[in-house]
Parts: sequence; structure tokens; C-alpha cells
Amino acid sequence: NAALSDVDPEVATAVAAELDRQQSTLEMIASENFAPVGVLEAQGSVLTNKYAEGYPGRRYYGGCEHVDVIEQLAIDRAKALFGAEHANVQPHSGAQANAAAMVSVLNPGDTILGLDLAHGGHLTHGMKINFSGKLYNVVAYHVDKETGIVDIEEIERLAKEHKPKLIIAGWSAYPRQLDFAEFRRIADEVGAKVMVDMAHFAGLVAAGLHPSPVPYADIVTTTTHKTLGGPRGGIILSRQELAKKINSAVFPGQQGGPLEHVIAAKAVALKIAASEEFRERQQRVLEGAKILADRLSRTDCSEAGVRVLTGGTDVHLVLVDLVNSTLDGQQAEDRLHSVGITVNRNAVPFDPRPPMVTSGLRIGTPALATRGFGAEDFAEVADIIAEALRPDFDEDLRQSLAARVELLAKKHPLYADLGR
Ligand code: PLP
Repeated sequence: NAALSDVDPEVATAVAAELDRQQSTLEMIASENFAPVGVLEAQGSVLTNKYAEGYPGRRYYGGCEHVDVIEQLAIDRAKALFGAEHANVQPHSGAQANAAAMVSVLNPGDTILGLDLAHGGHLTHGMKINFSGKLYNVVAYHVDKETGIVDIEEIERLAKEHKPKLIIAGWSAYPRQLDFAEFRRIADEVGAKVMVDMAHFAGLVAAGLHPSPVPYADIVTTTTHKTLGGPRGGIILSRQELAKKINSAVFPGQQGGPLEHVIAAKAVALKIAASEEFRERQQRVLEGAKILADRLSRTDCSEAGVRVLTGGTDVHLVLVDLVNSTLDGQQAEDRLHSVGITVNRNAVPFDPRPPMVTSGLRIGTPALATRGFGAEDFAEVADIIAEALRPDFDEDLRQSLAARVELLAKKHPLYADLGR
């Protein structure tokens, strides 16, 4: 029963270093967040030890009376939070949630219509070497070249031409809200089902700050670790009529034993997501993203070739277009890293550079909002980012920006009681 530092000092040292990295830098990867200590505690609990194939009340293992309570809590909270008739909380990840959701309504070879990966879609929405691209016949829709907005007319045209069985709405890199009613209308016209992958914006939906896809979609999938701020994992929501098919697509279709320690952490996160404090935090997420988009739209930025895609944001992230900058996505990511801000480079639609380099950045505010950042702090971060992307960036500027980052990190301590 030795502590981690005794049984495995190498791993313990790397974990401690990671805690220090999270505490001392500013996390702006749009898909990341900081799980509360209660979530970490549930996930690190003795539930790790338990096998529980099946579902609450119908397990293939003995001794499931306590995990049944926990999984039922997670299910009930997910249904209540999102107003869904059915919830499956077992998928190990967002990708597995999507795989199971697709298996429940599709046969191999069926046609799916999803947002192109290069235009902000996710791997599981039909990328060639992902399961979705290998199992299904993929047709991709795009954003408009001028506006950067998802082209609903193209979706309607492609749907009528290719008669997909499933239309996927959802994204990994897109700064605007989708019109779920339009997806429903088009799907109904061609007899398709609608799946909304709300992995990125689920926290905003939970807080009532983004339209809910639940009334319009046959299936809604999400991750629990992005804006929702919980453990890494997935959830599938649906109407009651698809419940059986979805449950059997997850288990035994996709996976064996559920991760009950993660499900407990999902239950905790879902409880928190129903709170007023969570709603207030999501408001700061949105406010921060708007501040960032406004700052990066100013003249000094456009003169440096920095452009905000779609001219702003309605969600938790800003997409920066560097096609006209002397920096490519990789260089911009490295530069921000050098001052203590973590973001990820991201292809912009119609990107002239290769995917490993890219011409864009995806910058998100959820993790900093969780740290307690408010409007003033986000304005300071936005200034630091704008200055870091200047063409005359040098070592003196780097040092002064890094010092400003350090001040912000100190102002909003993270996990103050961990690692002591
Ligand atoms: N769906 C969307 C829209 C995502 O952005 C992601 C992750 O980035 C996923 C699904 C997959 O989630 P996971 O990484 O948990 O498999």
C-alpha cells in the first residue's frame, strides 16, 4: 500500500511536474478544463477495482450494489441536466460514444454526412482512416469560404443528392452556434437521423447559454471533460425508443466493463453542472472568448496578418487565421508556449499549409474561467496574446510577457491543496 512516490518515483515526479505546469502556465486549449478536486477524488477511488459489465440492476458480476447507485445517479443527472429521455454514461471517451451511437443506427456501408475535418469537424465524423471513414460512406459538408459559417444550403443539397442515413451536427473547431432546427428539417426531408456531437459546447448547453440540441436530435453525444469540466469520458443521450439499441451498442457492442470510477466522477461533474456557480462560470467562459475575439480583431493585429475567423465568437473559443501572417500555426503555438500560454495550432478552412503546420490557432477560455478569470483578466490575456503574435517579437518582449503570465497565474491559484 505504498504511496505513489514510494512505489514509482519516476511516475510521481512526472505527475508533480505536470501539476506544476498546469499551475504555472495559462491553459487555453479549447477542449481542456480543470476537473474539480471532488471529480479527481471520485476518479482516483476504489471504484477502480470493480467490474460491472451490464447496466444498473442487470449486471454480469456480483457485488455491484454500490456502483449501481453511482451509475444510476450519473444517468439520472445527465437526463435531468439536458432534458433527455435516455442517457448512457458508459462510453470511455467521446470517440467511443460516437462509435456506439453510429453503430446503433447505421449498418456498414451506409452514408453519413458530417462537417469536414479540415473545416472544424471531428475525426469521428468521417475522417478517412478513422472507424467512421472506414465503416461508412462519408459525404462531407463545409463552411462558406467567405463567411466561415457552416453552409446550410450545401448540406441540403448534399443530403438530397446522397440520401445519408445520418447527418452529424457538431464540431471541434468552429466559433459559432449551429441551427439544429435546420439540420432536423433537412434530415426529415431525406429520411435521415440527426446526431449532434455537442462535446465542445455541452457545458454551455448545461448552463442554458447555448441552444440545446436535445429537442432536435435523435442522438446527442458529448464528452464530459471539455466545457463540462468533468473526467475524461463520453455520454450518449437519446429518445427512449433508441435506448435499447444504444445500450447494446455500447455494451457489449463496443466495450466490456464500464469505468465505474470515471462514471462516479461524471456523476459529480453533472451535479456541479446543474449549479448556479457553474452557470456563472460559463458566462465568464463566453465573456472571455468575446473579449479575446474583440482584441484580436483590432487594427494592430490585422496589420500583423492576424484575423479572427467569422469575425467573432458565440462560444468558448476563438479561431485565429494566420494565412496572411509571417507566422504559421506551429510557430504561433510555439511562441505562445514560450510566454507560458498553451494553445493548439489548428487548420483553418481552405488552409494552404499542411495539417502538421497549419495556418491557425484555436484558443479557448473554459480552463481559465474555471481558474476564476474574469473580464479584466481575460483582457490582459488577450493583450499578451496579441503582443506575442507581433512581427517584432524579441527576447525582451518574451520576458516581459512571461512575467505578466506569471502574475495572472499567481492571482488565480489552481489546486492549491494538491501535491503538498
Ligand atoms: N467529438 C468532438 C466534437 C470532439 O472535439 C472530440 C475531441 O476532441 C471528440 C468527439 C472525441 O473525444 P475523445 O477525445 O474523448 O475521444
